[in-house]
Amino acid sequence: MPLPAASSRTSSPTAAAAPKPAEKTHAQKLLDKLGLRRDIDLALHLPLRYEDETRITLLADARDGETVQIEAEVTHSEVSFKPRRQLRVTVNDGSDSCVLRFINFYPAHQKTLSVGARVRVRGELRGGFVSREMVHPSFKLAGGELPASLTPVYPTVAGLPQAYLRKAVPSGVARADLSETVPAEGLAQLRALFSLRESLRFLHQPTPDVALAALEDRSHPAWQRLKAEELLAQQLSQLEARRIRGAMRAPPLTPPVKSRNQGTLYEQLQAQLPFQLTAAQQRVGHEIDADLQKNVPMHRLLQGDVGSGKTVVAALAAARCMDAGWQCALMAPTEILAEQHFRKLLSWLEPMGIQTAWLTGSQKAKERREALALIASGEAGLVVGTHAVIQDKVVFKNLALTIIDEQHRFGVAQRLALRSKMTADGQEPHLLMMTATPIPRTLAMSYYADLDVSTIDELPPGRTPIVTKVISDSRRDEVVERIRGQLAEGRQVYWVCPLIEESEAVDLTNATETHESLSAALPGTQVGLLHSRMPVAEKKAVMVLFNAGQIGVLVSTTVIEVGVDVPNASLMVIEHAERFGLSQLHQLRGRVGRGAAASACVLLYSTGDGPRLGETARARLKAMAETQDGFEIARRDLEIRGPGEFLGARQSGAPLLRFADLATDTELLAWARALAPLMLDRHADLAQRHILRWLGGKADYLKA
Ligand code: ADP
Ligand code: MG
Repeated sequence: MPLPAASSRTSSPTAAAAPKPAEKTHAQKLLDKLGLRRDIDLALHLPLRYEDETRITLLADARDGETVQIEAEVTHSEVSFKPRRQLRVTVNDGSDSCVLRFINFYPAHQKTLSVGARVRVRGELRGGFVSREMVHPSFKLAGGELPASLTPVYPTVAGLPQAYLRKAVPSGVARADLSETVPAEGLAQLRALFSLRESLRFLHQPTPDVALAALEDRSHPAWQRLKAEELLAQQLSQLEARRIRGAMRAPPLTPPVKSRNQGTLYEQLQAQLPFQLTAAQQRVGHEIDADLQKNVPMHRLLQGDVGSGKTVVAALAAARCMDAGWQCALMAPTEILAEQHFRKLLSWLEPMGIQTAWLTGSQKAKERREALALIASGEAGLVVGTHAVIQDKVVFKNLALTIIDEQHRFGVAQRLALRSKMTADGQEPHLLMMTATPIPRTLAMSYYADLDVSTIDELPPGRTPIVTKVISDSRRDEVVERIRGQLAEGRQVYWVCPLIEESEAVDLTNATETHESLSAALPGTQVGLLHSRMPVAEKKAVMVLFNAGQIGVLVSTTVIEVGVDVPNASLMVIEHAERFGLSQLHQLRGRVGRGAAASACVLLYSTGDGPRLGETARARLKAMAETQDGFEIARRDLEIRGPGEFLGARQSGAPLLRFADLATDTELLAWARALAPLMLDRHADLAQRHILRWLGGKADYLKA
């Protein structure tokens, strides 16, 4: 039921009553949207903030900018039309008067606020032109008891009023099983002042004497308890996943005892590389090798900045796998990227007599049938493709290694599908995930108990640093001039636009328009266009032309974000850079600076209607201008966004930690890490109950 913004609590008293059966399904659906399915979910749905309705303040005592609750008499009420239609109500509480202003209002509001009525009003007091005012305060008739505790304000969705949640949550707390799951030894170390039940009771209805600061910064013992439990659940589930994996078997991929005349594939591949592996590539290569030779499935994340050379490391792992007589699959998130890998690997492996199969959603039925046959018979030692690789029809003869490039771009469900699909004969394939969006090391080590991490922390030699400039959109002409300069030197240019969203009436200069204007401004240059809505064949044709240097400027949406490798491109312009996330900007920038030529990245920003950029957008662009180091970028990203969101975004939306903050709750994390193994060993029942309570159906997701 949509409610007027003015007063959700009061002008609709029925909303708080028990929902009628007909409404229940509606409310249930809305609760579902919030992920509130079980009683415990409701109990753990904590307030965003609180409103203090326990006191009445005199207007004379209230400062401008303060949010207060007053009780006053309506002395005047009118609908005025300047500057726009609005309801203006003057109230006086004996100490002073103020004006209540409503842009949206209903006849019922006017009635409650008629002259002579005594009302209880809550809102932020501001200094107005003539007298002080509150804009859209909440209000109801005066009288009635003041609540004894602070009023919680819950995260909600449109259509689900606070009043509903203020009833539903406490009843969830009352019904939920909140019995202790933390074993005594854990409690002793935690020195917990509050039990889970006490914490929840308190946080949903704190007494007014509590220091609000302790609630806001979550340092209050009740918060500490919740955060500790949340971290414990996360560590338990990770550790459990690790143990389950440890009990599974994978084929050990040991090098053949006798190499063929011309050496193993691994040796051949290494011999024919046009460059020396960096020390970092060699180190991670050894780490991966060691895993592959075990009979326990590898679960390793290979992280390395854009351009650090992850592909060749993956190729060597694939060679190891094929040397041992097993199949390897490589999956990439976009067709462009997958095809690029395919071409590169084909050029390396085909001369050695290795069959490589190609799988993608867009290929013709016949081509696909042939690929499937090669995969099923085992003739194809390596399979490269997009999501098509995890489809039901794909049956491997003997898959032993799966490599996922840009793993964070895959949904959790897809990663799970890959694993479960390829489980055969009680064996699991080894899994190598690659990412250019590094998790800060400390975070990775402490948080992902279920993941081994290898890091390429060095770029191949000979790269020239990329100069990054942040420039206002009003100086576009200068940027076009710069493009001319690059083209004159035989270089190529990327121009990236935010995504085309035709359904949204946002005022983005979309890629098509930019393409037209650049084509006009650069006569004699072929300007290409690439966006996600184009048919695959067209996209490919454009990429071929750009690869060949025939297209001078490539205007594109973020489809080029991952992995595209055209070393002759030396300038990247990112339009509306303020709309991109930090790691995305970094990924995009990584498309240039791949050759020996000096490269540059121009971040064009537009302030929209406002005079200047928002604070976080500014912080992002500043970080880009100041550093090129992916780990430093990740660290800043963490700082700007906070770890919950940082990790959450990586895991396709669902934030992993709602309460704890990895940057500040290090002691609690250490406690949880130490307790988790002990708890799995000695208190398996408690551990299971704890995981279920906190993660419910999401436990699987943490393991993906
Ligand atoms: P990413 O880690 O971003 O996937 P790539 O694997 O695409 O990076 O490598 C980027 C470029 O660097 C490629 O052109 C690759 O051939 C080249 N490269 C990789 N390793 C080295 C090396 N050790 N020395 C020189 N060039 C290398
Ligand atoms: Mg790559």
